[in-house]
Amino acid sequence: MNILEIEGLRKKFGAHQVLDGLNIVVPEHSVFGFLGKNGAGKTTTMKIVLGLLKADAGEVRVLGEKVEYGQTSTNRFVGYLPDVPEFYSYMTPKEYLRLCGRITGMTDKQIMRKSEELLELTGLKGVKKRIGGFSRGMKQRLGIAQALFNEPKLLICDEPTSALDPVGRREVLDIMEQVREKTTVIFSTHVLSDVERICDRVAVLNDGKTVMEGTLGEIKERHRKNSLLIEFTRKESMDRFMEEPLFRQLLKQSKREGSQIIIHTKDIEQAEAEIIRGLNETRLMPSRLEILEPSLEGLFMEAIQ
Ligand code: ADP
Repeated sequence: MNILEIEGLRKKFGAHQVLDGLNIVVPEHSVFGFLGKNGAGKTTTMKIVLGLLKADAGEVRVLGEKVEYGQTSTNRFVGYLPDVPEFYSYMTPKEYLRLCGRITGMTDKQIMRKSEELLELTGLKGVKKRIGGFSRGMKQRLGIAQALFNEPKLLICDEPTSALDPVGRREVLDIMEQVREKTTVIFSTHVLSDVERICDRVAVLNDGKTVMEGTLGEIKERHRKNSLLIEFTRKESMDRFMEEPLFRQLLKQSKREGSQIIIHTKDIEQAEAEIIRGLNETRLMPSRLEILEPSLEGLFMEAIQ
């Protein structure tokens, strides 16, 4: 079952076409990274999904139910953490969650049970300090607790880690990883290492469209360049390798950088077998021989060019 489906979404601010036929599908129980540089339209998309902003065209469905602007009935499935969550700074986290529970009409017993569970999850249990004295990371964690209060099927977080230091980032990512069993998580970011750490699916937004989508494995496989890296620590070995007639054909499509050489080929398996055979015959021993995997960063930069 798909938790979220976005089809042909378009949105213009003045003359600026921010979303230009955006399509995204988010399956249930994934941690979905929504990537794009600043100003790509990530927040705009999230606001449309929440029914807070009107799209010019296209359709959004949450658990198969159509999102209507201004009517937030689909939000009963959704928890939302904005990029800069706002709180009453004079309250303690417990008091704040009690207020959240009261607004949603829960009983005191339910509020107590849920608050305990969420304060534990977000590492805020026993924190008596008022929210005004919280670090940014603590505020984000409390924001997640609040967003999870009504047990949403979908948790949407807008740049939850961008303003945090490495420790704060790790804490927030750990929480998102823990809740994936119960809740699908979508988070927008431009921090690629966060995506590599916890996302199983990503979509990259550029010029108002999805330019890359899928699991990280699929994306890397799809964009895999057939390249082999060979490294020789000793210069004489590298020179012998370069001059060896057995490798002449393969070296036609290659690039040397210091002690490394990268060979591009159409058939990576065959090239690898040929090289291994050749190395064996010539008794040359490289210090490294590997098929190059594309990095997410490299793919991201290519996709948004
Ligand atoms: P992101 O979240 O990817 O950084 P946003 O969705 O916040 O991007 O913004 C996308 C673009 O739309 C930006 O150029 C921004 O300036 C513009 N934008 C966003 N909201 C408005 C608005 N209410 N009025 C005019 N322009 C807006």
